[in-house]
Order: sequence, then C-alpha cells, then structure tokens
Amino acid sequence: TKFSDLGLNPLLMRAIAEEGYETPTPIQAQAIPLLLEDKDLLGIAQTGTGKTAAFALPTLDFMLEYPQKRRARSARVLVLAPTRELAGQIAESFRTYSRHMDCNVQTVFGGVNINTQRRALQGGADVLVATPGRLLDLVGQKAVSLKEVEVLILDEADQMLDMGFIHDLKKIVAQVPKDRQTLLFSATMPKLISDLAQQFLDKPERVSV
Ligand code: AMP
Repeated sequence: TKFSDLGLNPLLMRAIAEEGYETPTPIQAQAIPLLLEDKDLLGIAQTGTGKTAAFALPTLDFMLEYPQKRRARSARVLVLAPTRELAGQIAESFRTYSRHMDCNVQTVFGGVNINTQRRALQGGADVLVATPGRLLDLVGQKAVSLKEVEVLILDEADQMLDMGFIHDLKKIVAQVPKDRQTLLFSATMPKLISDLAQQFLDKPERVSV
C-alpha cells in the first residue's frame, strides 16, 4: 500500500511527505481506509507502530471534508490518553499533520494550573487531547462541554485501566453524544478491555499488528 492509495486529502499528503514518511505502516494501511468510511475501530497496537498517524490522519481528513466553526468551550475530536507525556506527543502529531489546514489542537492534563487550561479552552478546540481526571475537572467547572464531540479516541486503553481511570472513562463517555465515531487502541486485549470495547464501540472493525 502507498499513501496515495489511501485517498487522504492533499493537504495531509503534503504534511506526510514533509515528515519524510514514504509508505504507510501496517496499522496505517489497515486502519485508515476503515476510518475514512466512518467505522468504529478496535486497534491492537503498541507504541512505535505508527498508530498515532493511523488515527490522526483520517480524523483530520474528516475535518477537512466537513469544516465547522469552532464553538466556544467545546471540542469536535476528543482523544483520551493515560499520561501527560503521551497526551503531549499525540497533540504534537496532530499539529504536525494539520500544519496546512486550520486546526486548533489543545492539550489538558493534571499536575499543572487548571486556570491556564480553562482559558485555552474558551475559544473551543477542533482537537482536544486530555488525560481523563483533568478533563472531568474541567467539564465539572463548565470550562468545556463534550456535547459536540463527533470523534472519540481512546489511546492506550489498557494503560488507562491499569491507572484506575475506568470510572472516569465511563463518566466521560456518558457525556459524549451516542452518534459519534469511536476508536479504541490498546497494546493488549484482556477481558476488561473487550468489555469496555463492547460498551463504547458500535460494530467495530478489528485491526491487530
Ligand atoms: P507512534 O507509534 O504513533 O508513536 O509512531 C512512532 C513513530 O513513527 C513516530 O515518530 C512517527 O513520526 C513515525 N511514523 C509514523 N508513521 C510513519 C510512516 N508511515 N513512515 C515513517 N515514520 C512514521
């Protein structure tokens, strides 16, 4: 598979070429066509496989196809990650791939002043990358609403469960509209994860690398 076979928007193709990516990784080749068709996805993949681009590129493609004005204190795409480090890396990747389009990417995580994050969210985000606990704090303070989320991505779900985020995840998902696209990535597939996938995803395609 070549990137040009995937049907991604030229603005994304340009960013990919500038990053020096020549061919899609296996998870990208498998996941991107499914995600471009709006399928829910259960992805079994470790870090280092290129999974971030596998979910970021089709998500950005969707935003280019259906542009929408940012709404104050809301987000169209919500990515949940277990740690501030991973959240930061995911946000960085979204910024890289979206450099030729208008896309506001915000990151929120615990351990830093919440007021700065409240202010950053005032104008709304196209993509919000968050750790679960801090996101719930911000939702509780009405600094952000999840009612406009169209794409929900859970990255390193097994890690989030190991860190005790299960209740936070359920509370967050309960606030996101049911009519959405949901992607769940995990390095492993214990019963707890398949139960969670059963609950959060709608007829998901499975991709494993
Ligand atoms: P990830 O698994 O998402 O953490 O990505 C691992 C690394 O692979 C990152 O540094 C990406 O920039 C890089 N990468 C992702 N996709 C490709 C690709 N198709 N070709 C070359 N490098 C890539």
